[in-house]
Amino acid sequence: MKSRQQIKLNEKHVKKYKKGYPLLFSQAMSNPSDVNGLEEGTLLTLTEPNGRFVATAYYGIQNKGIGWVLSKIQSEAIDDFYFKKKLYKGLEKRMGLYKNPKTNCFRVFNGEGDGIGGLTIDFFAGYYLINYYSQGIYHFKSLIEEALSEIVEYDGIYEYCRFDQNAAAQKQTDHSSQDMNDGFVMGKRAKFPIIVKENGEKFAIYFNDGAMVGVFLDQREVRRQIRNKYARGRDVLNLFAYTGAFTVFAAKGDAKSTTTVDVANRTLERTQEHFELNDISGDAHQIIIEDVFNYFDYAEKKDLTYDLVILDPPSFAKSKAMTFSAEKDYPSLLAECIELTRDNGIIVACNNSANISLDKFKQFVGKAFNMADARFEVLEYHSLPKDFRTHPLYEESSYLKVAFLKVLRKQKIEDFILEP
Ligand code: SAH
Repeated sequence: MKSRQQIKLNEKHVKKYKKGYPLLFSQAMSNPSDVNGLEEGTLLTLTEPNGRFVATAYYGIQNKGIGWVLSKIQSEAIDDFYFKKKLYKGLEKRMGLYKNPKTNCFRVFNGEGDGIGGLTIDFFAGYYLINYYSQGIYHFKSLIEEALSEIVEYDGIYEYCRFDQNAAAQKQTDHSSQDMNDGFVMGKRAKFPIIVKENGEKFAIYFNDGAMVGVFLDQREVRRQIRNKYARGRDVLNLFAYTGAFTVFAAKGDAKSTTTVDVANRTLERTQEHFELNDISGDAHQIIIEDVFNYFDYAEKKDLTYDLVILDPPSFAKSKAMTFSAEKDYPSLLAECIELTRDNGIIVACNNSANISLDKFKQFVGKAFNMADARFEVLEYHSLPKDFRTHPLYEESSYLKVAFLKVLRKQKIEDFILEP
């Protein structure tokens, strides 16, 4: 068993941890140097300044903080039974998805939302992928694997370490060769790609190609809405498309045409693969490997406009054309999309930055429409789906914001001038 270290909380922060706040950060401690020299994975007994128990946490360094609370019950041991309980509860909440015949890829455990920060587990057609976000949580690896393997039926279990940059770099290898560094843990090795289904459409999943496996599971509901309600008969532009997952749903929803844009070469091969898997073909579906910012210039020059524009950029991106940060540049990026959207057309505006709150996102939308001198109507709004459980006291865990915006052009003054 790991050693334990007592950490006195700063009086100012005691109340929040008593209520159940999950993230441990340096300033919350009376003496931040208390963790100096500790091994990651050490259990921390968080106490009031007078020594009274508040919670048990583990020490693990992530960009967000230095550990996560595991339990508020003093007598609860952090042992095999603890992990089994937590994982079992997580699985129970996803029973509906396990039973859904049209979908076999989803999240079964979502970090602090399910009670253990720094740990996520996704399910892909019989295979489980465990993501560890710090060396600290990785210390509990054998307990976590054992717990998972005992409570689920599986073909195979894989892991991915988000904290180990060396391992991440090594995984950027050619995925056609089954390299041994694919994070295999137990069961049967998968043959990549694993073909999964989401609401009846297929995706190709690679665990041996870095942290991004081929699809972002958190956008499932947005993809379904695009297919079921918005795509039919429309010219669709999908920006920052990655493997074209949104494009697949637009095409399956009978879009008139689709244009898929991403700067990364892999988008061509991976989107084509998705098209083949889903029987999508023909000239109406174009894939363009280009910087989005260059594509805006090209589209303007050629007078290209669209009925449905999907905007799902990363939080940060560096390309030859420019360095993009959602926090700074989202309004101008959205304004560019408005310019490309026909009157009464729709923009699916997505943002997944944890540091951009819903209020800020709304401000960004307002600002963009001001910049483009247009008005909008919000048709629907989405946050994370239910399998991405969030923590009510930790706002950042609800990072996804997606608005379906109808673009209404302001009528030009001349339109109102009546003929004499
Ligand atoms: N919308 C995607 C996920 C986006 S991931 C989906 O639904 O699956 C972010 C993508 O943005 C990556 O594929 C990356 O290659 C791309 N990207 C980053 N900067 C870019 C730029 N300047 N122009 C075009 N694509 C860019």
